[in-house]
Amino acid sequence: MIQKPVCPKINLRSSSLTLVFVVLLIGLGGCKSTAMLSADGSVEVDTLAVEEEIFWEPSDKLPYQASATRSMDLLHMDLDLRFDWKNQQVIGKAKLRLTPYFYPQKIVVLDAQDFEFGRVVRIHNGQLETLSYRYDNQEIQIYLPEEASVGDTVELEVNYVAFPERNSGEGSAAITDTKGLYFIDPMDTIPGKPTMLWTQGETEHSSKWFPTIDRPNERLTHDIWLTVPDSMVSISNGRMLKQESLGNGLRKDHWKMDLPHAPYLVAIAVGDFAKVTASHGDLPLGYYVKKGFEKGAAKVFASTPQMIGYFERTLGVPFPWQKYDQIVVRDFVSGAMENTTASIFMEELLLDEREALDSEWDYIIAHELFHQWFGDLVTAESWSNLTLNEAFANYSEYLWNAHRYGQDQADLKLVVEKEGYFAEAETDPKELIRFNYADAEDLFDAHSYNKGGLVLHMLRRQLGDAAFFKGLNLYLTKHAFQAVEAHDLRLAMEQVSGQDLNGFFNQWFFAKGHPELKIEVDYSKPENLLLRFSQVQDLDEFPVFQLPITVSWYEGTVRKTKTVQLTQAEQDIALENGNPISLVYVNEGQEILMKGNQVMSNAQYLQQFKESQLGVARYAALDSLVSREAAEELRVVLPLTLEDSFAAIRERGLSLLLAGDQLKESLAELEEKIYRLAEEDTNNKVRAGALEVLAEWNPSGYRGAFTRLARDPSYLVAGAALMGLARVADPAMELSWMETFERETNFRMSVGLAEYYLENKILGKGPWFEQTFSKLSGEGLYYFMGYYGSYYLEVEVTQKEKALRHLFTVLEYNTKDFLRLGAFQTLLGFVMEEGVLDKMVAIAEKEQSEDLQSYYSYYLELLKEEN
Ligand SMILES: [Zn+2]
Repeated sequence: MIQKPVCPKINLRSSSLTLVFVVLLIGLGGCKSTAMLSADGSVEVDTLAVEEEIFWEPSDKLPYQASATRSMDLLHMDLDLRFDWKNQQVIGKAKLRLTPYFYPQKIVVLDAQDFEFGRVVRIHNGQLETLSYRYDNQEIQIYLPEEASVGDTVELEVNYVAFPERNSGEGSAAITDTKGLYFIDPMDTIPGKPTMLWTQGETEHSSKWFPTIDRPNERLTHDIWLTVPDSMVSISNGRMLKQESLGNGLRKDHWKMDLPHAPYLVAIAVGDFAKVTASHGDLPLGYYVKKGFEKGAAKVFASTPQMIGYFERTLGVPFPWQKYDQIVVRDFVSGAMENTTASIFMEELLLDEREALDSEWDYIIAHELFHQWFGDLVTAESWSNLTLNEAFANYSEYLWNAHRYGQDQADLKLVVEKEGYFAEAETDPKELIRFNYADAEDLFDAHSYNKGGLVLHMLRRQLGDAAFFKGLNLYLTKHAFQAVEAHDLRLAMEQVSGQDLNGFFNQWFFAKGHPELKIEVDYSKPENLLLRFSQVQDLDEFPVFQLPITVSWYEGTVRKTKTVQLTQAEQDIALENGNPISLVYVNEGQEILMKGNQVMSNAQYLQQFKESQLGVARYAALDSLVSREAAEELRVVLPLTLEDSFAAIRERGLSLLLAGDQLKESLAELEEKIYRLAEEDTNNKVRAGALEVLAEWNPSGYRGAFTRLARDPSYLVAGAALMGLARVADPAMELSWMETFERETNFRMSVGLAEYYLENKILGKGPWFEQTFSKLSGEGLYYFMGYYGSYYLEVEVTQKEKALRHLFTVLEYNTKDFLRLGAFQTLLGFVMEEGVLDKMVAIAEKEQSEDLQSYYSYYLELLKEEN
């Protein structure tokens, strides 16, 4: 599974109003502490994390969570389902074949949450025997007439109705609900919203719609029959065997999954989807999306066949399943989920053909795909071991990045992952493998994902590529269709490499924390530098880390490296470098998970930026100079950023030029260079960033370019160009020409146009603002909302009532936390209006999310004090 980015990426920075909105966000504390640079250079912001007051409970006070005891082994399920769409119920008949795992059993215990049962029978020698049972709304205990021994097969038939809506409480940050099966607009009452249903099993929510042993160390095969409206498509695990028309507008589809997998990976989706087909060799691929988005889907998912090929070659294990479908659904509760052969994705991946030009979803596609091996073929035996699923999926994003977009891009992504982990570890350091926890959903965090991925990377660096990937091959083939724990991975790696890895696993998987190093270099003997390493992490809580660490330097353009082995809290190492050198780098490639403070001067960072061959190191040098406000060095470095081979550095350089007022004066001669980036760069983000700088520095000078580029195929570029036009002081532009953009549905264009209407105080655009507001959803609505509010506050001031009504509706009823947050923030602009504050207070009191609650009350308290 992958989490949804809570507050989407901010790519819009050019206009004053955008800045107002962004500043509003940041100024209110919403985004600041966890804002960070993503691998692609845009700002990724987690609006809510900052609100989480963490009162960390020591793990020894939390309950110990063992792997589930295997009493009965569920072998196979025949599941026949119908749906009562009106009442959001699942009418099911499940035939289950089980056998005692080892010890004789008299009772079969199945997870079945919020069911009502009909007949429960045993099928025995061709006879149906009604069985007695006890049921407590969570588990059904079925009493067998006689004890079953290992080798005996027990066949049960359970008739039931499941009520996914009952007792559907809050899930984790990763999964916002626990219904297991979701009916979306089931009676088709919401205009423009598709009617569909889909499932989300992880962690233990499959038992909301079929009776099972809902534990990750269980594994079953199954046949599923789905009775669905003729007009709809069904998707499930494995292969579709048969479709049979029932004649009454209904159809019965038979899906067969003949390879065993865990219950949480069982999935169905039913809806009016279009299917785009593709293949990788003989493997059928399907991309299911809303009708009309087929061409976009073909682009968004275009890398899938190459990804499968790349992962197969890397792992030496063919894609393990019958087919691979990727389904984009509405209102998904997470980012995406790796159901076996049927991954489900959030609607943010629904792009039209033009939007798909700038699609950035490869990472999430890689993540779910890699899970088909790590998670689905080989499965963590308990949630304590979740990182055995998520570390690999997380690391696949790095692998694909490096393969497809180059080493620099991959390395920067690793740094972003690291920052995400540090943000969490600072207040809440935990073991990667965690047996003590309150709720399984708590495991879906930056330890299991980010740290896990980073630890795998270090293991790879320690063992070397050949041993690491051969070890993965052994681990996958030896444990195929099995549940695993961390030691299975260790033993596979040990068997292949011949190294004892207890130390590595103990410090990284079973202990908390990471090394914090103080690094001093004595340059007094330039031919033999002396390096002093001090591990300054709290040694009462965290281990002294055993760490191979790369030291590197440059002799002219030749990069030299040496690996030194840290074993003690304080350690001096003579480098014996030979030729005299003036600067060394420790962990230049940032591959080690550590907080390292190499004492360096501004001049040394400048040298690092100039000479390092690693994009991530140049990026880090730039960042260090920025955080030190090293104006003199930045004046040298910023022009260089524009010529850097690494797009993220060009983009970062542009954003620094945009932000720094004084730079405009001293670096104005760069304008021509920036203009060339806007026109010619191969990266659309760089082009958009360049347009933003031009719009800030000299909007009137580029009116022609903005006008032309507003028609660029890339929405990133066109949206930035529209923003530029909005900044031209005397637009001398036919309003009717600008109005042609009202037809655009992409939010970047809507936001650019909104900015234009705002800057030029164009009256009478209320209907367009209303229409756009109602059409946008998700990320687009989030950004548009600020402009929407501003338009009624500053231009169409007589119609504030209408705007308030819509904003309050979002605040009160929208199902997405970040959109309710956006509405709240926009409404803050209206607090001087009669009754607004009171109404905000009233709605805030009913807010279900604790994060939002505390966020709201903080600002509402402040406002009440002021008034
Ligand atoms: Zn995942």
